[in-house]
Amino acid sequence: MDTTAQTSPAPPTGTPRSRKVPRVLILGGGTVGLYSARRLRKRLGKQDAAIVVVDPRPYMTYYPFLPEAAAGSIDPRNVVAPHRRALKNIDVLYGKVSAIRHADRKVEITPQEGAPYEVTYDHLIVGLGSVARTLPIPGLADVGIGFKNVEEAIALRNHVLNRIDLASSTWDPELRRKMLTFVFVGGGFAGIEALAEVEDMARDAAKYYASVDVGELRFVLVEGSRRILPEVNEELGGYTLEQLRKRNIEIHLSTFLTSCIDGHVVLSNAVEFDAETIVWTAGVRPNPVLTRSDLPLDKLGRVTCLPTLQVAAEDGTVVPDAWAAGDCAAVPDLYNPGQFCPPNAQHALREGNHLGDNLARILRSAEPTEYKHKNVGAVASLGMYKGVAQMFGRVKVRGFPAWVLHRTYHVFAMPTLNRKVRIMADWTSSLIFRREVVALGSLHDPRAEFRAASLPLPLPPVERDARTD
Ligand SMILES: Cc1cc2nc3c(=O)[nH]c(=O)nc-3n(C[C@H](O)[C@H](O)[C@H](O)COP(=O)(O)OP(=O)(O)OC[C@H]3O[C@@H](n4cnc5c(N)ncnc54)[C@H](O)[C@@H]3O)c2cc1C
Repeated sequence: MDTTAQTSPAPPTGTPRSRKVPRVLILGGGTVGLYSARRLRKRLGKQDAAIVVVDPRPYMTYYPFLPEAAAGSIDPRNVVAPHRRALKNIDVLYGKVSAIRHADRKVEITPQEGAPYEVTYDHLIVGLGSVARTLPIPGLADVGIGFKNVEEAIALRNHVLNRIDLASSTWDPELRRKMLTFVFVGGGFAGIEALAEVEDMARDAAKYYASVDVGELRFVLVEGSRRILPEVNEELGGYTLEQLRKRNIEIHLSTFLTSCIDGHVVLSNAVEFDAETIVWTAGVRPNPVLTRSDLPLDKLGRVTCLPTLQVAAEDGTVVPDAWAAGDCAAVPDLYNPGQFCPPNAQHALREGNHLGDNLARILRSAEPTEYKHKNVGAVASLGMYKGVAQMFGRVKVRGFPAWVLHRTYHVFAMPTLNRKVRIMADWTSSLIFRREVVALGSLHDPRAEFRAASLPLPLPPVERDARTD
């Protein structure tokens, strides 16, 4: 095995180490990556292990707060934990993992700029998460918006508010209808929370427009199965449906999006309409870069693991020095034999901590322990003062108490004290001053105005005609 810090060319993390200290390479600086790195560093000093995290983004995102960031209740910057502050005494490489050759203990990293390079390691932690599970629906790739990262949450908020701005200055009824129709595809937790929060924000914003009637806003949910929120029981799922219907949200269950070319939505139940906003929240799949690795994967593309979070072949043979957890891993659920832990933050952050503890044990020649966590429940926000929750499998909570529970639970789970305090400050200010309803649409193309200013103005028609005479 290569004992230098990395193969050439050298990555930008300072001088190569003579590997007297084992190197732990963590792929992904998300929930699993951040928690496992911090726990490992807590257990092991710099003389015991060098820790390197690789991620294309300089921050970890706490996804459960994305719907509130899209609704303007929380500043989007506060739902992320910057690696530079959260990962003390840990090296961070910014780039995408593009191949994993565990047999050689090498990972290929493709930085945003510059040539790909390889990094060697002694122990590998895979926390590469998931990507949106899309389908080859005509038009979807061109007009759909995902809801899987903070940039998309900001873009969605700006887009929705911008549609209301544009509709308020248009008298063409067809165009207005198209601008004010918002479709969400997927009725899981992420989809329902995104829909409910954005709808609440949009109706609130529309009150400030004299020329837009709140009733003109049309929100549509499309869900393939016969129910929503599979994470809670049928009763709470039914209650949520009822609440959404009371808010005039149009719901199509057991229905699929068949096409959305140029925003012309066609559903499998023969309903057709035009919409300028189509949000895709129909589930996730494991990070596809794992197919460019020699790690064992199951049929769904997840890295197969033992309950100790050690990577193992399907027959249970441990792959030495490799660990995995979170959305990209098939971690056996010891409370539900034969099943795997669901892809959620509740498991990912606990698995991250457990993995850090186990690797520290192994490095101290102790035995790893099995990860076991009983689901504490599910909490969802459905807009300001509205929510739904199911705790410990039995306790059902609705409305305002569930909304408070959602906020309390997630603010405790949010990493770093700095972010917890900032989020609580955001909530307090939006309670006092109401939430911000301005769209900064030009953020998505900040150079547009400067480009236009740099070009000569076309001559007015009279002067142009005179020149050609
Ligand atoms: C909108 C939304 C709402 C959610 N709400 C809830 C909720 O209310 N409750 C709950 O329990 N769960 C919720 N979840 C799910 C939960 O957030 C995830 O299950 C959890 O974050 C998974 O953690 P992870 O570490 O496996 O992946 P992530 O946290 O996604 O981390 C993966 C990391 O890998 C990085 N990465 C990706 N590709 C590469 C690459 N090629 N090279 C290097 N790095 C790479 C990413 O940038 C990311 O930082 C929600 C998810 C979403 C999208």
